Amino acid sequence: MILEKEKLRANLDRVIWDIEEARVARSEHLIVQLVVVSKYTEIENIKTLYELGQRNFGENQVQQLAQRVEALDELPLAWHMVGTLQKNKINKLIDLNPVLIHSIDSLELAQELNKRLESKGRTLSGLLQINSSYEASKSGIKPEEAIDIYKQIQESCPNLTLKGVMTIGAHSEDTKEIRESFERTYKIYEQLQKSGATICSMGMSGDFKLAIECGSNMVRIGSRLFES
Ligand SMILES: *Cc1c(COP(=O)(O)O)cnc(C)c1O
Repeated sequence: MILEKEKLRANLDRVIWDIEEARVARSEHLIVQLVVVSKYTEIENIKTLYELGQRNFGENQVQQLAQRVEALDELPLAWHMVGTLQKNKINKLIDLNPVLIHSIDSLELAQELNKRLESKGRTLSGLLQINSSYEASKSGIKPEEAIDIYKQIQESCPNLTLKGVMTIGAHSEDTKEIRESFERTYKIYEQLQKSGATICSMGMSGDFKLAIECGSNMVRIGSRLFES
């Protein structure tokens, strides 16, 4: 559905206000970046949010990302890949030149990405995805293995620049469980700051305030912005 500019403005204002409230509650010094996840919405709405000041957009499928990068070619947008990356889509993703891939979920994927980047003479920034809720349906590295794998990627993948971590909050009605998944991820992020990590990507429409309270500095929000 294509939304009126005023509707999108109201949704955006509310999200920004909520981010601001949670951010200040955590720390005046915390800076939180908003990535608009546009996977369920129309290109027109992306253009409108661009006019309203947004620059960072995310998609979870390479195919749709490609269509949008092409359709919005004339706008100076920064594209994020937030979804699981299939090995056979790696070349295509690299050619789209995203600003950040949030979903590096195994050492094998990192090494495959690095190999293709090397052959193209390119580099790419990414986050290590952590399965902080231990859910079988979610991809990502087990929390206990995260630090070790992060360092292995840094050592073995010179064309892939790790910038931090990403997680999806626990799928639960219980706030305590969701909080634990975020806290677990933040602890890993804190330890990785010594290794150069600067991004802790966590929080979606339903849980971004909680994620920021737990230290997130990058939220990925879709449905809340596109409510009609
Ligand atoms: C879809 C998606 C989001 C945004 O989810 P909403 O609940 O619509 O805000 C964030 N992160 C990832 C990885 C997603 O796939």
